[in-house]
Amino acid sequence: MSRPTTITVDLQAIKANCSFAQSLAGNAKVMAVIKADAYGHGAIPVARALASQVELFTVSCLEEALTLRDGGITTPILLLEGCFSPLELVAAANNALQVVIHNRQQLTQLVEANLCVPVTVWLKIDSGMHRLGISGNDCMAFYQQLRQLVNVKDIVLMTHLASADQPQNAMSIRQIGYFKQSIEKTLKLYPQTKQSIANSAALMAWPQSRAEWVRPGIMLYGISPFAQVHPNEAFLVPAMTFSSKVIAIRQVNSGETVGYGNTWVAARPSVIATVAVGYGDGYPRGAKSGTPVLVNNQRAQLAGTVSMDMISLDVTQIDEVYIGDDVELWGKKLPVNEVAKWADTIGYELVTRMPTRARRIYHN
Ligand SMILES: *Cc1c(COP(=O)(O)O)cnc(C)c1O
Repeated sequence: MSRPTTITVDLQAIKANCSFAQSLAGNAKVMAVIKADAYGHGAIPVARALASQVELFTVSCLEEALTLRDGGITTPILLLEGCFSPLELVAAANNALQVVIHNRQQLTQLVEANLCVPVTVWLKIDSGMHRLGISGNDCMAFYQQLRQLVNVKDIVLMTHLASADQPQNAMSIRQIGYFKQSIEKTLKLYPQTKQSIANSAALMAWPQSRAEWVRPGIMLYGISPFAQVHPNEAFLVPAMTFSSKVIAIRQVNSGETVGYGNTWVAARPSVIATVAVGYGDGYPRGAKSGTPVLVNNQRAQLAGTVSMDMISLDVTQIDEVYIGDDVELWGKKLPVNEVAKWADTIGYELVTRMPTRARRIYHN
């Protein structure tokens, strides 16, 4: 038997979450955001699973798109940060990639490039997040210049919301308003132009953001984008299960300590189970004592500091724990967001920074 630390990815769950995204999207089209190795779930297996459900995949950069092409994925792919050089534009055009244009340099590159096939361009407006995008005042000028280029096949207008995960925050309304106002004149002249605003949170909580294309990422993996409970999250099926097994059990007396730095002190005679998973496998070192961990489907608590290869659990209140028992760090029965909170982070970060160390199992 080998080390029992595994990451199981349920591809049916991802397909079901994508169908749920499509049901929320109504007439809008869904692109599947599979950047950062499909949020740590494996870009190629995820893309294969979703290829019959979506018309467009979305990644951050050329390298991520070419990995998909090398894996035999032929679906069009959108690059969210666009291209970083004229050479990349050539590669994008040759590989059926679509590019975001979010600044003037990228426009200039597109003007000067000599592409064999024209590319579809997603012109990004900064509607208030102030991360990427041109000013709304420049929309018409950029659009008209793009339209004249032989290198440009089609133009879609897009923006990104900063606080869609906070359903009470009026920022989303202000951003959608600014975006609509910025593109109004352009749309009068070119009424066929399609638009895209929504990420997962917007798709789930802001119906007015749906437009013609929606861009869900995190929800495809069954992870809620919201910090607070949201009714739509009940329809998400977690795709990643991070699991291991108990490899040692011991009794400690009151006052004895567990782990590096002796941060955990037994308040009573306790039973401690050692599990073969640590920060070297992607379990967050920042997780505090008390973080929930499932042992035989019962809740136990992290006791002391996370080591590179192991964690210790207080299993005093669980009946009958044995070496070899199943442990779920997060997954179908324990939401990754709950663990993330104990480590002062979000589920997005935990799943995207999983190292390759743990064995991966894909369920079709
Ligand atoms: C990552 C990203 C998305 C997907 O966001 P989720 O919160 O994972 O749904 C959508 N649009 C842009 C521009 C992104 O960078």
